[in-house]
Amino acid sequence: MFADVDTWVLDLDDTLYAPGSGLAEQMQSRIRGYLSEHFGTDEAGARRIQAELIAAHGTTLRGLMTTEGLDAHEVLAFEQRLDYSVLRPDALLVEAIAALPGRKFVFTNGSAYHAEQALPRLGLGQHFDGVFDILAGQLIPKPYPESYRRFVEQFSIDPTRAAFFDDLAVNLTVPEELGMATIHVGGEAAPGTAEPDRDDEAGQSWYEVIGPRRWRVWNLPAFLHALTTAEGLR
Ligand SMILES: [Mg+2]
Repeated sequence: MFADVDTWVLDLDDTLYAPGSGLAEQMQSRIRGYLSEHFGTDEAGARRIQAELIAAHGTTLRGLMTTEGLDAHEVLAFEQRLDYSVLRPDALLVEAIAALPGRKFVFTNGSAYHAEQALPRLGLGQHFDGVFDILAGQLIPKPYPESYRRFVEQFSIDPTRAAFFDDLAVNLTVPEELGMATIHVGGEAAPGTAEPDRDDEAGQSWYEVIGPRRWRVWNLPAFLHALTTAEGLR
């Protein structure tokens, strides 16, 4: 199924580490703290402004730069106060990513600093050939087509031989249009279906095929591990 894939592209937050570490909450809280301070508003006001900025500009960062003329590095300074020690390596994921054949990239709407802090704590500091961050994307985030175009050009990627992993389905639309295999990681089970048992090795019900080259995966370490062993996906 993935025999023709020689380029592996993985989102970072909520993909290379599962929701539940608390890091995403820390980031959201810092961003809203920044908004509260900048706009002189309370928590609810900050939430509303954040939602408006994301709806109009893709990310809070881009919205602040566009509408307030703020400097990216000033806004991103909040990352330096995050506690990354909440992240822990997943041995199976580390082993599987190390074993993937071909080039491997992290494609994040966060900054390279964020990736440099997070990846080593996940045991993945040495396993990627490159990180494409929000600054490399000229502040145009996923899911805008421009962002993927820059990524593909920068690393000379053949999209038809690439697989793209992200926890947000909306971020997989453009990769699919470009001809990549797409893997939607985690999230809620489809309505009317039970959440698959993440540890069900016999049935491997932690993934499902949702299209010709589209997968939905609830247990990324187990999925990648199966891909890199002779056993493969059943
Ligand atoms: Mg994500």
